[in-house]
Order: sequence, then structure tokens, then C-alpha cells
Amino acid sequence: MLSVFSSPGHYVQGRDATAALGEELRRLGIEGPVLIVAGNSARRLLAATWERSLGEAKIEYSVHRSGGECSRAEIGRITEAVRASGSAAVLGAGGGKVIDSARAVADDLELPMISCPTTASSDAPCSALSVIYTEAGEFEAYQLVRRNPALVLVDTSAVAQAPARLLIAGMGDALATWFEARTCLTGHVRNMRGGASTRSAGALAELCYRTLLADGLQALAAVHTHTVTPALERIVEANTLLSGLGFESSGLAAAHAVHNGLTAAPQTHPYLHGEKVAFGVLTQLVLEGAPGEEIDTVLDFCDRVGLPTSLADLGLADADPETLSAIATRATAPGETIHNEPFSVDAEMVHDALRAADALGGR
Ligand SMILES: [Zn+2]
Repeated sequence: MLSVFSSPGHYVQGRDATAALGEELRRLGIEGPVLIVAGNSARRLLAATWERSLGEAKIEYSVHRSGGECSRAEIGRITEAVRASGSAAVLGAGGGKVIDSARAVADDLELPMISCPTTASSDAPCSALSVIYTEAGEFEAYQLVRRNPALVLVDTSAVAQAPARLLIAGMGDALATWFEARTCLTGHVRNMRGGASTRSAGALAELCYRTLLADGLQALAAVHTHTVTPALERIVEANTLLSGLGFESSGLAAAHAVHNGLTAAPQTHPYLHGEKVAFGVLTQLVLEGAPGEEIDTVLDFCDRVGLPTSLADLGLADADPETLSAIATRATAPGETIHNEPFSVDAEMVHDALRAADALGGR
């Protein structure tokens, strides 16, 4: 098996980074027109800077208001907007779902994709993978695209304006990276690009985890006060770049499959991807029989930053056995990344791990 490492072409991060957008696009030979798929807060925060930066670079653009969910219907609407505007590149500005829908369209139309996350709420921005949901918000499929974004530009001034809950969710998503990578590395399974992992990807995933433990609380204090600090910069990099490269080039395992399982329960729909993934991490560690000390470190981190550690924290306080069975069945569906675990996993094992993780978190 060949080793494969996948990454965006260019990564730019920092205070007021959007001001450099036009120049960065020019540097990459992207001359426009550009269709910007934007969430509400991205438009509110960045519209004036787009006008200035893209105007100075003489790049034409138009803005498509994101419909929210990354669904087949939304992808269809954006495709129409790209065609109608004659755009030569697609830029996603906002949270993970906005970026995922822009990426899917860019791939379908074979156009370069630019990723401008305004939150550090997931590791979606750097990858060549879109997560497709139904209109009702249930996980539908992973869409693997051919190319990673040509450019990922993260404006930490915008990230600092976002609600703290989004940064926390991003830490939940990033928390999974090292544990899932470690499982995939140990088991020599294929990563998201169908190759073997590299030592580089493993090292990035581990650095991601260490950064969370070292800087998570300080970064949270920064977003609470809407300030940009070195700790916030390091957590934004961990949530976006380290986690993105780590998961894609090492692989996913039980934690994300448990997330997908949780989406089968409508009670979890108000909760963010990373919040469900964090509980997935605990479930994975229980399933793997990880040492108590390691589980305690993860639980302590989750408690301190405010990530879910119990089913009640995800709206499942009174979940009946049927709901838990539905979650476990969905998490172990054929093709799920839970089958990257180095032992065979069935729904009963996941059901028990969910309940045991819940008991540990509720201590
Ligand atoms: Zn994720």
C-alpha cells in the first residue's frame, strides 16, 4: 500500500487575514469571477473587506446566501448560482456546512475551491471531503472530492467574534483526531485518501491533541472577550490545520462513527458536530479499553472547556433502549469508520460503550 498525504495548496491564518484575500488569489492565479457562498455572520463581518480586497485585486465576485444545511438541494442551488454568474472559482465563507457545500459544487464543476472559515468549529476547511446531510439534518454520506482547497484563509479576527460554543465544538472535533489517527496507524488501515498513513500525519495529529491540552482554556478566554491572542491562534491552527491534515491523512475510527450514529436521534440535532464527536471520543476510548488515566485526562479536558461528557449533555437524558439501539446500529453500518478499529465491532458493543461512557462522564 502506498502512503498518501493530502493537504490544501496554501494555508493563510491571522488577524484581519481577509484583507489579504485578493492578493492571495492573484498569487495563485485565480482571476475570477468568484462565487462567494456565505453564511449570515460571514456576510455581516466580511462583506466590506471583500469589496475592498477583491476590488483592489480587480477580481469580480458575487455572493450567494447559504441555505444552512449542506444538502443535495443546497448544492443544486449553488451550482445554479455558479452557472448564472459565470464564476471560475467557488469560495465558501462561514462554518463547516457552508464550506462543505461550496467544496462539493467546486468539485462537480471542476473549479478551484477557496475555504474561508469564520469559525474554528470543525476541521472541515482543509479537507477534500464534504459531509452531506438530509434536509432534516441527518447524516447522509461523505462525498470525497478530487482536490483539497487551493487556498484556506482563516481570519482570526472573525473567529474571535464567533460564539465561544463554536470554538469549543472545534476543540471537540480536534480532540478526536489523535485518538482516531492512533487507531488507524496501529491497525495499518487506509486513510481518507485510500493510502497508508505517514509519520508526518501521525505527528500532526499528536501535536493537535497536545495543543488542545496546553492552550484550550486560554483560547476560550480570548473568544469570551472577542480578542485575538497567541493561544487563540494556536487553537485555531489546531482545530483547522492540524486536525484537518491529521484526520484526512491518518483516518477516522469509532469517534466519528458514533457521531454519525448520534445524528439518528433527532434530540441530538441542536448539538454541533464537534460536541457529538467529543462524546464519540469517550465512547471510542471505552470501546478500546483505554487506560483509566487517559480517559480521565480527556474527561477533565471536556469538563474544563465545556464539551459534553454524558448522553444528557446531548439531549439524550431519557433516551429509551430503542433510541440507543438506533444510534448503535447507525454507528456500525457497513462502510462506517468504526470498522477501522483493530477488532470487529457490533451494535451491542457500541450500545454498551455508550452507556459506560455516559456513566463515566456523569460521575
Ligand atoms: Zn469531524
